[in-house]
Amino acid sequence: MTPKGLEEVGDGIFVLRGDLKKGMNIYFLRGPDGEIVQFDAGSRSMLRANRRVAQEFGGIDRIVLGHGHCDHRGTAAKLGPPVYCHPDEVADAESDAYKPDYFDLSLMPMPVRLIYPAMLKWWDGGAVKIAGTVEEGDTVAGFEVVHFPGHAPGLIGLWRESDRTAVVSDTVYFVDSAKLKALPHGEASVPHPAFAWNHQRAKESVRKLAALKPTTVHAGHEEALHGDDLTDVLMAAADKY
Ligand SMILES: [Zn+2]
Repeated sequence: MTPKGLEEVGDGIFVLRGDLKKGMNIYFLRGPDGEIVQFDAGSRSMLRANRRVAQEFGGIDRIVLGHGHCDHRGTAAKLGPPVYCHPDEVADAESDAYKPDYFDLSLMPMPVRLIYPAMLKWWDGGAVKIAGTVEEGDTVAGFEVVHFPGHAPGLIGLWRESDRTAVVSDTVYFVDSAKLKALPHGEASVPHPAFAWNHQRAKESVRKLAALKPTTVHAGHEEALHGDDLTDVLMAAADKY
């Protein structure tokens, strides 16, 4: 059964869309043993919907953060289940700051440069207590954890070889963050350098994703990317900025 307000977007993969233009995604994964894992935690405004979904699932076993940015940890502090992330992301996930020091909003064009601080604060749900960590090679709900550092030092995605499906948080954007709107469907880009811990590593991580040869990529924002061969799209995405 699919809880109300959720879309089943793959085998045992459900998405809750919320906040700005419904562009923020929280994923719920049903593992082969019935474990329910929440991947990412969207923005604070999604808390009520997130709670209702958790209830309809009969509870969430654990939350795994793709990374610790404000629009991915938004509901995590208040939900209850233990929260996990990559070791390199613990400090930022547990920080009281609404954004990490490495964000450089001066790289954003006007006028969004001026709007972002207020938006980031609005999205944030505050510091999250991290119960444990997951690293490349670990298994989460039948998916393999893959490290995609760059946009954030401890950014992780989940990879399922059997149906070549990747759920990758902000490894790749299907949004134009400088224009605050979705990219045309089927297009992708490396995250904007204003939001990079290490932009060159972010590009390498998009290429690492391409090398997995996924046929479906679910990301932290907007609709999934589908295709028999996404290599060209993803390799071009790595060089967008
Ligand atoms: Zn992010």
